[in-house]
Amino acid sequence: MTKLSFEDLRGKVCVLTGGAGVIGTSMARGLASVGVRTAIVDLNADAAAALAASIQSEFGVQTIGVGASVLDKDSLLEAKKVINEKLGKIQLLINGAGGNSPQATTAVEQMTPGSLDDLSKTFYGLGMDGFQKVFDLNFKGTLLPTMVFTQDMLEAGTGSVLNISSMNSYRPLTKIPAYSAAKASINNFTQWLAVHLAQTGIRVNAVAPGFFLTNQNRFLLTDEKTGEATPRGRNIIHNTPMKKYGEPEDLNGAMLYLLSDISAFVTGIIIPVDGGYSAFGGV
Ligand code: NAD
Repeated sequence: MTKLSFEDLRGKVCVLTGGAGVIGTSMARGLASVGVRTAIVDLNADAAAALAASIQSEFGVQTIGVGASVLDKDSLLEAKKVINEKLGKIQLLINGAGGNSPQATTAVEQMTPGSLDDLSKTFYGLGMDGFQKVFDLNFKGTLLPTMVFTQDMLEAGTGSVLNISSMNSYRPLTKIPAYSAAKASINNFTQWLAVHLAQTGIRVNAVAPGFFLTNQNRFLLTDEKTGEATPRGRNIIHNTPMKKYGEPEDLNGAMLYLLSDISAFVTGIIIPVDGGYSAFGGV
């Protein structure tokens, strides 16, 4: 029996979108730790370049930063050219760009009879712009890079795609209807594309992170002045059986497993990385 390892990943070329973000940064480091050569593709070209340089010097693994928008197919095609020139053919893709917007967030968690006095704080006060923005970033921002960056995999007859979903896709959190629905669409698309591509050699899977304290949600979950958990933050910990937030590195095991040939017969699955949140009935 062959010894199992992530050795098959060494030297492979991975595109990581949204790679300069909190989770992306941790994933990029996890990839370099097993020798994957990564193109960090991000709207923030400077941050992507700086991160790539620091990873390359720390791990001695070729890593590049490329500025592009996951919402603009031409910029992705340009990015692919640069990646092909500098790193070679693309074998792995992580669709990491995503997130919520305050424009698509209700001020109140639930409506009460009193809410009728000020509908602006409820579902009825949300504008279509916010919904559009969040659906675009999460859904279209996964769709377009997948069309562009799996072309090399199609030619090679092998490859692995990893999408980033969220616990919100199964049980929507209050206040963020667009983000929750957009992440549910990622689960559905992951399954659809896995089936569509199953005979091409390209596998498509996802991870569904639970709750991680990041810049995006820190203001909702901890009090800026005292550093104490807000009621919403306490609720999350209460509903997470491990009684803590995840650390971004906690995603790396599931990430490497799904990218590597170790999971060669696995496609169309979504792995929760959530401290038991999805298993807990709340009582
Ligand atoms: P983040 O905001 O720290 O990083 C997102 C990155 O995407 C940023 O570097 C940003 O510049 C980049 N980006 C934004 N728009 C872009 C575009 N149009 N084109 C290219 N890049 C773009 O977010 P994060 O917390 O690291 O989240 C990463 C992923 O994980 C997202 O899909 C998010 O929805 C998901 N997620 C996060 C959590 C969490 O607790 N933080 C939980 C579940 C899922």
